Amino acid sequence: MLNIILFLIITFFLNLLFWDILLKRLRLKELEGVALCNELSRLNDLKKNLDLENKSLNDKFEDTLTLYELTKDICKSLDEEKVFAIFSKDLKKHISISDCRYIKDSADLIKYKDYTILPLNLEANQTAGYLAVDRILETDKLKFTILTQQFLIGLRRALLYQKVQELTITDVLTGVYCRRYFLERFSEELRRSKKNKLNLTFLMIDIDNFKQFNDRYGHLVGDAILRQVSKTIREMVRQIDFIGRYGGEEISVVLAETSLKQANYAAERIRQAISLEVIKVYDEELKVTVSIGVSTFPENASNIKDLIEMADQALYLAKETGKNKVCFSS
Ligand code: GH3
Ligand code: MG
Ligand code: MG
Repeated sequence: MLNIILFLIITFFLNLLFWDILLKRLRLKELEGVALCNELSRLNDLKKNLDLENKSLNDKFEDTLTLYELTKDICKSLDEEKVFAIFSKDLKKHISISDCRYIKDSADLIKYKDYTILPLNLEANQTAGYLAVDRILETDKLKFTILTQQFLIGLRRALLYQKVQELTITDVLTGVYCRRYFLERFSEELRRSKKNKLNLTFLMIDIDNFKQFNDRYGHLVGDAILRQVSKTIREMVRQIDFIGRYGGEEISVVLAETSLKQANYAAERIRQAISLEVIKVYDEELKVTVSIGVSTFPENASNIKDLIEMADQALYLAKETGKNKVCFSS
């Protein structure tokens, strides 16, 4: 009997122990479950945050990429004014500014005292001008810098193109049109004169006794004389007229919309200006004269070849009859 009671007691305690262990295990599992749930929700939060951060970085990247894409638009033009127009339009799309100007001459900066001025630096300490911006927000400054860099790329291309164009159409020594381009312009102008029934005058200008200057003072002095004579001719004609280096020391001019009578005045003015000028080269003070042959459309001829030939004959006459004079084609 005692054995049975003892067995029951032991069984009872063993049961108690068994259930205790089981309950503890279950509680432990429950706690582990809660911890896992917590971890899961923490990881979910972390993922959400990372997604948000990722989206914001993506937005920023897209935004910056769009800023850099301006280069594509800007590089569509090789005209500096157009390049600025594209830049200015895009600038206003991306940042809030009231006004932006492209200023080429530093003397004009005085008008924009209240603006933020940004020099547009090219390589080799050269500047292509300035950007003047009215009221730019601190938060927009980075975007503005990026966009300005794009503008500079476009501007550099446009200026380089301009330079190449100028070099291909101008004579390096005198700065007037080279013969090929001069003849192209002459042809266009003659077509325009015919169409609009306008006069046109052609001048062939040749320096008198130029060889002697070369022989006496050397070719460098001769070059300087040629440069100065070309400069004086440039100053004596109007914007609508144009000048070319026809040959060695022969400069030709097309006086647009100019009759024979008006041409007489214009050619005389050029001749006199050159004859009165003192050309300073190194230590020398020199005086030169020119002879000028004149032909006019439509009186003398109606094509370029004949107009040049007739002016050449008139020039020959001027040389033959004493130089430093203007002669007209008869
Ligand atoms: P004329 O009064 O009859 O015109 O006499 P000229 O001595 O001026 O004779 P011409 O017009 O035939 O002489 C042209 C000279 O111009 C010869 C040539 O050596 C010189 N010349 C041509 N091109 C250049 C140049 O680019 N620089 C220099 N220094 N001389 C040149
Ligand atoms: Mg000559
Ligand atoms: Mg000559």
